[in-house]
Amino acid sequence: MTVKAFGAYAGDKPLEPMDISRRSVGPHDVRIEIVFCGVCHSDIHQVRSEWAGTLYPCVPGHEIVGRVSSVGAHVTSHQVDDLVGVGCIVDSCKRCDDCSDGLENYCDHMVGTYNGPTPDAPGHTLGGYSQQIVVHERYVLRISHPEEQLAAVAPLLCAGITTYSPLRHWNVGPGHKVGVVGIGGLGHMGIKLANAMGAHVVAFTTSESKREAAKALGAYEVVVSRNADEMAAHIKSLDFILNTVAAPHDLDAFLVLLKRDGTMTLVGAPATPHPSPEVFSLIMKRRSLAGSMIGGIPETQEMLDFCAEHGIVADIELIRADGINEAYERMLKGDVKYRFVIDTASLAA
Ligand code: NAP
Ligand code: ZN
Repeated sequence: MTVKAFGAYAGDKPLEPMDISRRSVGPHDVRIEIVFCGVCHSDIHQVRSEWAGTLYPCVPGHEIVGRVSSVGAHVTSHQVDDLVGVGCIVDSCKRCDDCSDGLENYCDHMVGTYNGPTPDAPGHTLGGYSQQIVVHERYVLRISHPEEQLAAVAPLLCAGITTYSPLRHWNVGPGHKVGVVGIGGLGHMGIKLANAMGAHVVAFTTSESKREAAKALGAYEVVVSRNADEMAAHIKSLDFILNTVAAPHDLDAFLVLLKRDGTMTLVGAPATPHPSPEVFSLIMKRRSLAGSMIGGIPETQEMLDFCAEHGIVADIELIRADGINEAYERMLKGDVKYRFVIDTASLAA
């Protein structure tokens, strides 16, 4: 089936309208009419070929919400008319230890929602900046938020799970002082989620303009990281730091804020490496530097249910598909509070 989409034909070209095809529904497939799709900074890295291996045409988008329009004969978990979501994963081997543990995100054969290998035309997956997608039922999530919140639910499918998973893995909860570095799409969700888990949240931003806004999101304290005195006030005091920054920066400045046995987990994925941190920043207090990538399907469902229960959604700015190039430029300047979401109805116009 041919549907309308927005994507790029090369890394140095703006995104533009294109027609793409979606496969017919197989026995375990779910066809979804996409209603909204969030705009992740990974979309920019990938569509502009900042990470290795982008295939063109590239249709980004892995924060997908929509309504089921048909299901395959063997589908048991979803029905026509259900509100559902699709995040960063549309396939995996389904057999390895990672898949068996529900950690499909770490499967060596995980297929990303865009730019992943597939027998479908054109030979790589095409993402959510489109009217429709067909996905194996295993990778389709249930949404129980009220329908009027649907646009603001979309960013949970990547920004939400990417921050929820490490906060859970490192057991963040009451009594913990937790830093969230970089208050963009991921960071603002990190503040909301760590707050809902009961932690004392400290937001670290390079943007003076986000000082008050970060408090409104649930941070008890806000540090403008360019201010050395403000940083010094938190030395050796944090149990855990979630670092979402999309660009290379000085990691030592944050590692020294951890108390003994503290961990800083990197989820930001800049196009070029960070300067290597000092070994002494790690050994002096037995600190750890770690990484984490999105989350598995069961944990993504757990995160969506947690957010529905706690009334958590993203703070969004709704845009038309043809506003995507301008939205990218604004994201690169940090000028978004805090996630752009495409209204896919605009693709038909
Ligand atoms: P975003 O909305 O653009 O936010 C990134 C934030 O980083 C900015 O708002 C800014 O916050 C801070 N920042 C500081 N210096 C920066 C600079 N020179 N350039 C850009 N940002 C700077 O991005 P996002 O969608 O949250 O994604 C953040 C990173 O996570 C990206 O690299 C993305 O690819 C990656 N990511 C990783 C995973 C994973 O699984 N690990 C999943 C999704 C995304 P302040 O203004 O507060 O300083
Ligand atoms: Zn993403």
